[in-house]
Amino acid sequence: MQNKEVDILVVGAGIIGTAIGAELSRRGAKVCVIDKGQVGKGCSYGNAGWMTPCFSMPLPMPGMLLKSMKWLMDPKSPLYIKPSLSLDLANWLFKFMQAMNETQAKRAVDCLVVLSQKSLTEYEKLGQKYPEMRFEQKGLLMVSRTPAGVAAAVEELNYVKELGVPGKVLNPDDIAAMEPALKSPLLGGVYFSHEAMAEPFQVVQAFAKEIRLHGGEILENTELVDLEIADNKIEKVLTSQGEIKAKQVIMATGSWSKSLAKMLRLRVPILGGKGYAMIVPPLAKQPKYPMMLVEKKIAVTPRQNSLRIAGTLELVDQDFSITQKRVENIKQGAREFLDLPEELQVQELWAGLRPCTPDGVPLIGYHKNISNLVLAVGHQMLGLQSGAGTGLLVADLVEGKKPFVDLSVLDANRF
Ligand SMILES: Cc1cc2nc3c(=O)[nH]c(=O)nc-3n(C[C@H](O)[C@H](O)[C@H](O)COP(=O)(O)OP(=O)(O)OC[C@H]3O[C@@H](n4cnc5c(N)ncnc54)[C@H](O)[C@@H]3O)c2cc1C
Repeated sequence: MQNKEVDILVVGAGIIGTAIGAELSRRGAKVCVIDKGQVGKGCSYGNAGWMTPCFSMPLPMPGMLLKSMKWLMDPKSPLYIKPSLSLDLANWLFKFMQAMNETQAKRAVDCLVVLSQKSLTEYEKLGQKYPEMRFEQKGLLMVSRTPAGVAAAVEELNYVKELGVPGKVLNPDDIAAMEPALKSPLLGGVYFSHEAMAEPFQVVQAFAKEIRLHGGEILENTELVDLEIADNKIEKVLTSQGEIKAKQVIMATGSWSKSLAKMLRLRVPILGGKGYAMIVPPLAKQPKYPMMLVEKKIAVTPRQNSLRIAGTLELVDQDFSITQKRVENIKQGAREFLDLPEELQVQELWAGLRPCTPDGVPLIGYHKNISNLVLAVGHQMLGLQSGAGTGLLVADLVEGKKPFVDLSVLDANRF
């Protein structure tokens, strides 16, 4: 690569970086997006593909303290925090506990619902232009076999319905009529009618096509290795392939952001929330709807000729290894709800690290001391569902327009 000069340099070509790059290219900026690997092969590759404003609750919700203590002890739980002596983990957990209060949760949900709804509208348009995304707006089912699971689903509905996310409570007969693939007995659930799903990797590719269509470029295998900062400004970005000068630099580096933040002289306490997704052949009774199996925290997404089953959240620091036991837990959990064959053939098994902030809210905004640096990281469980909206928000910020959400909730310098 020859040394370059652009208006906007986006670091990271996951859903967040490509959504930002696409929006700024459409608005006429000269954009370059770099990635140390390939476009969309980070956490955005194999996620459940849900675009679901109903799931806008941050991880540390009020009342989670006891539950999180239990997870700490139980490697079989859907959410697991492996005990370790890491200072980063202790610091993260301390802030996680601090964030479990009603005021904080309400502000976060208000903001994340808006970001997710904006995204949904954008994805609908993008899906029409790029049918390979397989955007489908069928709604989403939350189903449960236990009273606690039903209560959790109804609580989710109550939280978001006043923010304009429609849904209704279902009894077991309603569920059986809607989704014959589910085994009985079920106790109840909730149907959110406006939620959508798509092929996550194809969504990133659609944004990448938009970037190129509007004159931008994407450089793969190009890693940011250092920054030259002078007078509170990034003068140059040093990459593994050469130097890039940019008027504005945007960091969209997902779960890699904590270590990069040291270069930025900023605390970005992001840990990886490791999750697995497996693709299996279509079932004899193939589900029609995307479904959350509530008490197991398993996401089931019907695909054209297969089924995606995703779940677990294990807090780690850049560890991509696959623990077969946790994969088996997902299979067993799904088996309680669906007729899976005895010998389940897994066509693809994937692990991704959700970029998790301790308060469950992304960091979006300008760096307090570096005037041409914007952060857009830490989208935890909802990077796809809030990605397109993040693209609009960051483009507005860069253009000096009034943001459409309360930016103080997302403050990039809050840690
Ligand atoms: C099992 C599972 C299921 C999920 N389901 C859903 C879902 O249904 N809906 C939803 O909204 N979210 C879901 N998520 C979460 C979602 O996948 C993430 O929030 C999202 O992918 C984060 O996107 P990102 O662009 O921030 O990160 P990434 O996709 O990880 O992209 C970051 C990129 O930065 C690059 N990078 C890092 N460091 C450098 C560097 N120094 N130089 C250059 N490039 C660099 C990386 O190579 C990577 O490509 C799920 C996650 C998992 C694990």
